[in-house]
Amino acid sequence: MVDGALDGLYPRICRGCEVFLAPETPRSGVDAWLCSPCRENLTRVEAPYCNVCGEPFDGPMTEAFRCWNCQGRRIAFDFAVSRFRAEGPVREMIHAFKYNRDLSLRGALSDLLRESLDDPRLKAADLSTWLLVPVPLHPMRALWRGFNQSWELCRQLSSLTGIPAAQVLRRRQWTHTQARLNRHKRLANLRGAFALRHSFPGRRLPMLKGRCILLVDDVLTTGATAHECAKVLKLNAEAEKVVVITAARG
Ligand SMILES: [Zn+2]
Ligand SMILES: [Zn+2]
Repeated sequence: MVDGALDGLYPRICRGCEVFLAPETPRSGVDAWLCSPCRENLTRVEAPYCNVCGEPFDGPMTEAFRCWNCQGRRIAFDFAVSRFRAEGPVREMIHAFKYNRDLSLRGALSDLLRESLDDPRLKAADLSTWLLVPVPLHPMRALWRGFNQSWELCRQLSSLTGIPAAQVLRRRQWTHTQARLNRHKRLANLRGAFALRHSFPGRRLPMLKGRCILLVDDVLTTGATAHECAKVLKLNAEAEKVVVITAARG
């Protein structure tokens, strides 16, 4: 219960505009961190967007379409959904969560992540039979950071929704930071970086064959990481479907 642990001691301020939040504002979730105007002003990913990568496009397209970036490219995941752009307070909160290790933001970011489940393609599914799987961190990086941000989001979303979660992937290769690389270089950098975990201490690997997976990450940028993870889940574990959900889109 890190979420809002110091509420009684300090007045809380909005992470967007720094106004004081009223004492009666909720103590967990996105409402605990953003005033209502800032929450309303978050940049949402609005339709029409690419049927595969979720990138929004301007224009009157009403039919499902694949963007030029996804056309003619083999993409291992079925589609990716995020409801928010990694801009303004969303970007700032993700940054604080990940790099300043501010775990108290987990509830707020999980609320943003949860909105991905409103996608009509997911709303129709019985998600209780699906599995939440985090994008893994290399053990060294997890040790240094103290936690895997994607796993923290998975766990929180699992307790909000009842969808089971398990860390079935591992990162076996240290990859250099991806931020400065283009998509092509990212893919080359990541090839073979992920594998299935074969054992859990004291537990069995959950059934993956024929299963539908929600692959969870904090931000989707080029989709290269998600593609590599989905490849392992589909080819090695024979998962039926892999849908990527993220708190935000880069
Ligand atoms: Zn505000
Ligand atoms: Zn696309």
